[in-house]
Amino acid sequence: MVNANEYTQHLMGTTVSLMLLEPNETAVQTVFETIKILEDKLTVNKPLSEVMSINLAAGQHPVTVSRPVFSLIEQAQKISLHFNSCFNLAIGPLVKLWKIGFQGDQIPAARLIKQQLLLTDPKNIELDANKHTVFLKKAGMEIDLGAIAKGYIADVVKSILLQYQVYKGIINLGGNVFALGASLTDDNGYWHIGLRKPFSTDNKLSGVIKVIDKSVVTSGIYERFFIQNDHLYHHIFDPQTGYPLDNELESVTVISDSSLEGDIYSTVFYGWGLDKSREFLQKRPNLSAIFLLKNKTIALVNPNNFIFQKSDKQYTIKLD
Ligand code: AMP
Ligand code: MG
Repeated sequence: MVNANEYTQHLMGTTVSLMLLEPNETAVQTVFETIKILEDKLTVNKPLSEVMSINLAAGQHPVTVSRPVFSLIEQAQKISLHFNSCFNLAIGPLVKLWKIGFQGDQIPAARLIKQQLLLTDPKNIELDANKHTVFLKKAGMEIDLGAIAKGYIADVVKSILLQYQVYKGIINLGGNVFALGASLTDDNGYWHIGLRKPFSTDNKLSGVIKVIDKSVVTSGIYERFFIQNDHLYHHIFDPQTGYPLDNELESVTVISDSSLEGDIYSTVFYGWGLDKSREFLQKRPNLSAIFLLKNKTIALVNPNNFIFQKSDKQYTIKLD
C-alpha cells in the first residue's frame, strides 16, 4: 500500500495497482483475490492452471474447463479464425520457443520455427460448448491467452468495484489501464494516463491521454524484446512466418469501453499496421487508437473519445 487509497500487489508477472478516491479495503481485497484466482486459471507461465491442463493434454484428450476460461477461449478462437488478422490464440509453441521477455530468449533455429508453426493452427482447437471442453488435436499444441487475459481481468475488476459501489478510480494491470468514472482532480473530469515513451530507460512519457470512464490498453514492441545482430525481436509474432511482426509501428494504444475489446484490438491493430487499422476504425466510432510510429509520428484515430497531450519533442502528431 503506497498511501491511503493506492493499493499495489505483484501479480500476473507485473505490478497491479488500484487507485481509489475513497479507501475501501473490502473491495480491494476482493479484487486482488479475484485476480489471483483468474491468473491461476489462465496463466501459461506456471506449471499448473486450467489453460496448462488443456496444453498438457494436447493430442491426448479434451479437458473440461470453467465457464470464464471456456468463454475466453471461444472468443479468442473466433478472432483467430474469422478476423483476417495475425491474432492467433494457438501461438503458444512459438512463444515458448522464442522465450522473449524470459530467461534464455534467443533467435531459434529456422528448422525449429518451422516445426512449431505446424502446431499453431487454431482450427485444431476443438471446443464443445455443452460440455465446456477444449481439445488440442495435435501433441505439442499450446493455447496462449497473453494477448487478452489482462483485458478480460480488467473488466472483471471493474465489475467488482461497481458491485462495491466504487464508481471512480484507476485500475492498472501493468500498463493495461481502466479509468473508472470521472476524476475529481481535473475540472472536466478527465483522468490523466501517461503514455510511455518507447524504449525510454527512465520512464519518460511521449504524452498524456485524458479519458473519462474508458479502458486504455497498449501493445508495443518495447514491452518485451531483445536485440541481436542490431535487430530488435519483440513479443508479438506473425503466425505466418513464426518471427516477430515487422512493421512501421512502435506501439498501439486502444481506447475503448471494454478492456477485453481494447486488449484484442491492441494486438490486432499492431498486426494490421496503421492503414488497415484506420480503415477499420472508420466504421467503429466508439473505438479509438493512438499509433506511435518508428518514424516518430503519432497518429490519433477517432480522437473524439479522448484528448492527447504530447510531451516529447521527438514526436510529431499527425491528424487524419
Ligand atoms: P499484447 O501485449 O496484448 O499485444 O499481447 C502480447 C502477448 O500475446 C505475447 O506476450 C504472447 O503471449 C501473445 N502473442 C504473441 N503473438 C501473438 C499473436 N500473433 N496472436 C495472439 N497472441 C499473441
Ligand atoms: Mg492485447
